[in-house]
Formats: sequence, C-alpha cells, structure tokens
Amino acid sequence: MEHVKALDFNGYRIAGWKCACGEKYYEPEGAQKVLLLNKLKKQSLKAKLGRIKSNLILRLPTDIEHALNLKQGEDVFISIENDAIKVVPA
Ligand SMILES: [Zn+2]
Repeated sequence: MEHVKALDFNGYRIAGWKCACGEKYYEPEGAQKVLLLNKLKKQSLKAKLGRIKSNLILRLPTDIEHALNLKQGEDVFISIENDAIKVVPA
C-alpha cells in the first residue's frame, strides 16, 4: 500500500492509499467531506437573518461549516452576484 496525497474522488482530489493491484482506498475524513459537499450542492439550506446592533447576522448551517472547513475568526470575502450573496473563504 502506498500513501497518495491526491486521488480523484467524485470531482475532488483527496488523500488515500493505492495498492499495486490498482485498488484505491480513500481517507474517510476527506471522502466524507466530498460527499457532504456534493450533497449540499444539490440543495439550498434555509437560514434566518438576525440582527446584532446595526448589523444583520447570517448564521451558517453546521453542514456548510464542516464541508468548507470554516473556522470562527477567519476572514471571508462577500460579494453580490445576480442579486445573490456570495461568501468565499479568504
Ligand atoms: Zn491490492
């Protein structure tokens, strides 16, 4: 078994192991994240806007936090695209 950093898995590259016979094994954590990402891409999640003082607050669902590896205190870029809000991890 050889450890490989970038195996193709459902359109993403994740780490895993490759056997001499050609069989591949994916690291479960990476595979889970890809499956979660692909699931989230097919749906829209509902969230409620709150307010703290003069700012509107958007709470992100936990699944999105985990799928995109978001961490509290990190910066994100916010832009408007076709009347939608786009948030991109910095
Ligand atoms: Zn094998």
